[in-house]
Amino acid sequence: MRTPIIAGNWKLNNNQEQAGDLAQQIVEAAREVPEVEVVLCPVYTALETVRRVVEHSPVKLGAQDMFWEESGAFTGEVSAPLLKDAGCSLVIIGHSERRQFFHETNETVNRKVKAALAAGLIPIMCVGETLPEREAGKVEAVVSEHMLNGLAGLSSGEISKVVIAYEPVWAIGTGKNATPDQAQEVHQLIRKLLAKVSGPETAEKVRIQYGGSVKPDNIKTLMAQPDIDGALVGGASLKAETFIPLVKFKG
Ligand code: PEP
Repeated sequence: MRTPIIAGNWKLNNNQEQAGDLAQQIVEAAREVPEVEVVLCPVYTALETVRRVVEHSPVKLGAQDMFWEESGAFTGEVSAPLLKDAGCSLVIIGHSERRQFFHETNETVNRKVKAALAAGLIPIMCVGETLPEREAGKVEAVVSEHMLNGLAGLSSGEISKVVIAYEPVWAIGTGKNATPDQAQEVHQLIRKLLAKVSGPETAEKVRIQYGGSVKPDNIKTLMAQPDIDGALVGGASLKAETFIPLVKFKG
């Protein structure tokens, strides 16, 4: 059985006060559903505030990105050991916004995934096609490329720890979510790819989140799909009234 994982990606939102208040409300809700893993990914400057709120609670702290080097002359960057030191357990890697605006490639994603694992962080590795790629019938090709290059050189043991987030770019922040069938089709493909690189046993263990306009009114049908194990949530994670129903999707 794979533990469901619901993660809030706050992106470039929420100062320390807002982050602390929101985290407090999520902690209270998360205590009621211990069977669900809940993760909050604030901006770097609010990590410490949120760490204090989630300490001694079931909610985990995550970061939105990291650099692959541990230290050195890399102005503006933050490394995996430093995120670990700041209390993070997870880190989002290869989000489509980083691919689109910050030149993230499958190669940099791979370096970051390896560095995250080496520091004891769980990477949430994002994969997914753009609208033109979907319309050109390239979903399988694009997702396979993201998966195989992103996980290149990892052992089965390492792959078993990774969380994959399937995020069709056309569904992010647009209000257009993939239908449960569309999402399941790609999640099934992702599990097949995982089996190819790490064997069927590992593939069964890896959790695959769906991301893209997940809301209280669509979470249930998405989570009912056999290969959807969680959600990576942007917009709806910014308000307690829309994120708490996602955390409590079973109720
Ligand atoms: C995201 O950015 O990871 C995301 C899924 O955003 P939204 O939920 O707003 O579509």
